[in-house]
Amino acid sequence: MKAIHKASIAAAAVAATILGAYLYFLSSSRSPFDEFAGMRVGEGEVGIMFLGTSAFIIRTSRHAIIIDPAAKMSKDDASSLGTVDAILITHEHGDHFDASSTFDLHRANEAVVVVNEGAYASLEGLIRGEGKLVLLEPGEAAETGGVVVKAIASNHSGLSPLMYFISMDGVAILHCSDSGFVPELADYAGEVDVAILPAGGASPTASPSQAFKMAEAVMPKIAIPMHGTSAEYGELRSALESLQGVQFLELEPLSPQVVPVPP
Ligand SMILES: [Zn+2]
Repeated sequence: MKAIHKASIAAAAVAATILGAYLYFLSSSRSPFDEFAGMRVGEGEVGIMFLGTSAFIIRTSRHAIIIDPAAKMSKDDASSLGTVDAILITHEHGDHFDASSTFDLHRANEAVVVVNEGAYASLEGLIRGEGKLVLLEPGEAAETGGVVVKAIASNHSGLSPLMYFISMDGVAILHCSDSGFVPELADYAGEVDVAILPAGGASPTASPSQAFKMAEAVMPKIAIPMHGTSAEYGELRSALESLQGVQFLELEPLSPQVVPVPP
C-alpha cells in the first residue's frame, strides 16, 4: 500500500514537471507582439511597445495605433495585435517608413494609414480603399474611429515632414519623429500626457538639447526617449531632472509594458 502511494506521488511530480515545462515553453514562445496584444490596458493607462528608432505600438483602453514602423514588423506581427485603428507615418525617410511593409501592415487589419506628403506619394497607388489613406499637412487633423490625430510641422528634411499629437481614450500622446524643436509645440503646453522625444541618433535635427526644449515647451507627464544612442538618452535624462513633474521613462525595445498616466 505504502509503495503504491509513493509511486503515485512520484507520477504526480513527473506530470507537474512536464506541465510546468510545457507552460514555460508556451510562455517563452510567445512573440512580444502576442504579449503586447494580451496586456490589459485600463482607463488612464497606456500600453506601449518600442520597436527601435521611432517605431512604437501604443494602446489605450479601446484603441491601438502603430507609429513609424519602417520595416520593423511583419504582417503576422500586425495580425496578432488584433484591431489597429491607425498607422501613422511622420515622414518618408527609410528609418521611419517602408512603403511595401506599410501596405502589408495595413492589409493585416485594415487600419487607416495617416501620412505626410512624402510618404503619400509612395502609397497612393497601393492603398485604394475609401478613406483608408489620409494625407495630412501641418496644422491639419484627422479622426478615425475615436482616435484624433493632429499634424504639426516638423523641423527636419523631407517633403512636409510631420510630428503627431494623438488623443485616444482621454490620453494625449505627442510623437516628435526625428524633428528639432519648433515653437508651435507651445500650443500643446500642459496638454500632453506622454511625449515621445527624439534624442539624436542619425537625425541631423534631433539632439538631447532639442528634445529638452520640446519637453520644456509642453511639460509632459511622461517623457520617453527614442531615435538616439544610450549616451544621448542619458544626457536627456539628466537634463530633464530640472523639469519638475516630468517623469523620464526609457523603454527597452520589444518589451511591452502598461504605464499608468499620472492624474
Ligand atoms: Zn528623417
